[in-house]
Amino acid sequence: MKSLNAGIKERADRVFCNTYARYPAAMVSGTGCRLTDADGKEYLDFLSGIAVCGLGHCHPRVTEAICRQAATLVHVSNLYYTEPQTKLAEMLVANSFAERVFLANSGAEANEAAIKLARIAAGEGRYEIISLAGSFHGRTLATVAATGQPKFHKGFEPLPAGFVHVPFGDIGALEEAVTERTCAVLCEPLQGEGGVRPLAGEYLRAIRELCDRRGLLLIFDEVQTGMGRTGTLFAHQQLGITPDIMSVAKALGNGLPIGAILTTEKIAAAFVPGTHASTFGGNPVTAAAAVAVLETMLADGFLAGVRARGDYFRHRLGELVQRFPSLCAEVRGLGLINGLVLTEAGVAHGGTIVTTLFDQGFLINFAGNVALRFVPPLIVEEAEIDQVVEALAAVLAGLA
Ligand SMILES: *Cc1c(COP(=O)(O)O)cnc(C)c1O
Repeated sequence: MKSLNAGIKERADRVFCNTYARYPAAMVSGTGCRLTDADGKEYLDFLSGIAVCGLGHCHPRVTEAICRQAATLVHVSNLYYTEPQTKLAEMLVANSFAERVFLANSGAEANEAAIKLARIAAGEGRYEIISLAGSFHGRTLATVAATGQPKFHKGFEPLPAGFVHVPFGDIGALEEAVTERTCAVLCEPLQGEGGVRPLAGEYLRAIRELCDRRGLLLIFDEVQTGMGRTGTLFAHQQLGITPDIMSVAKALGNGLPIGAILTTEKIAAAFVPGTHASTFGGNPVTAAAAVAVLETMLADGFLAGVRARGDYFRHRLGELVQRFPSLCAEVRGLGLINGLVLTEAGVAHGGTIVTTLFDQGFLINFAGNVALRFVPPLIVEEAEIDQVVEALAAVLAGLA
């Protein structure tokens, strides 16, 4: 019998722009940490749609909220108020440093809003944004320009002006890059796409101090690290550094497209009716999903559980570094975003390791050409962590 996966792949490869190097599986359904493809094969999902399905696939509470709202009101534009987006913004404000929210549809769009807000708040002549080498901020032209990885720029020049990159971890270089045109520093508290690379606490504190001293806004891109991923609702909450503007997206809607920026009353005052807008932003269905996500994550014990299982995961990955020192260099991460950094010899096998695990029904990826990245649903259980670690150990044993 012909494979249904192969049939869908064949049709898709005829009609889509060839922008994705996809694995040969067409996913059909999901529940919790598990996915099933068109041929009935099951996968243990340690990628969560790239840190999106924080509550796992088809979480009953989110599904219920989506269905209820879809049967009530799907869209009206931002010319009118709606209850779901108001509730969502109230919850974001109540659980963060922020007093004001703007709702968008994706991470890149949230960062676009952050960039526009920083520029308009800083005023005439101050438009430069400094970001870090190895960063990832999105695929729109401005967020590509902000992204500190040349491979994302190639072929799209000229990029929008006003974006400056400095080496990772070098506070002196950051200080030197500040000019009278600078309005903000944009960074991820932990670089996700860049290979699960946390910024040291000392470095983050120095960035905050520099921003304060030079009158710059600090923008945290928490698109990947936000929404419980690191064991606190937002990563910066456990690092003791507060941004002026923060972008979130990925896990906010547990799979529905929604993004947001959060900021203070004072900075938000630079936005007035007409300065920025989004047709779909804060759409009632996506907002209702996000409210259900926040209610679930803020319930007693949820985030503590993420921290506990994160510790357990890093402990188990640490065993692999001990066992396979020729392939595995170190473990990095926070909460349930973790990376197993490979040695130079290991990096050569990074792609093979991911594909071999895929064949065996385990989904992970290789981030920044340096680390195997694990971003399972935050509801993952220790036994599921054990399964992935043991499968990976067997693959590494075959290579060592
Ligand atoms: C994924 C990601 C983005 C882009 O989000 P999209 O929803 O794909 O536009 C931006 N910043 C970071 C840190 C991300 O991980």
